[in-house]
Amino acid sequence: MDDCIFCKIIKKEIPSSIVYEDEEILAFRDINPVAPVHILVIPKKHIDSLVYLSKEDEKLIGRIYTVINKIAKEEQIDEKGFRVVVNCGEDGGQEVKHLHFHIIGGKKLGIKICG
Ligand code: 5GP
Ligand code: ZN
Repeated sequence: MDDCIFCKIIKKEIPSSIVYEDEEILAFRDINPVAPVHILVIPKKHIDSLVYLSKEDEKLIGRIYTVINKIAKEEQIDEKGFRVVVNCGEDGGQEVKHLHFHIIGGKKLGIKICG
């Protein structure tokens, strides 16, 4: 996906503050944080949104949650809590069409879901 901003971040064509990386997954700080901790976790494989997941992605999505767990501990938000948000499609407010999981924490979050 040549015009995908997150694919460019994966290829290091756009700089980002990376907090975790392996062969399949990248996590980096959101450029416009809505809370003291706001990290995006993405698969390196381009998937447009949650709607386009397939059976073969089940293991990858499971691994993403393992990475989220690890990051939450490293960022020391595991005990007080945090929120994981996946915006999907137009009504869901998805701006970047590359599947991503927001980790939001470090303050008491209101009822507003995200951003
Ligand atoms: P969405 O609204 O699609 O769920 O969330 C997209 C998120 O990506 C937003 O929170 C936005 O701040 C973040 N974002 C957009 N462009 C960039 C970028 O170039 N770098 C980083 N680090 N975050 C970005
Ligand atoms: Zn992409």
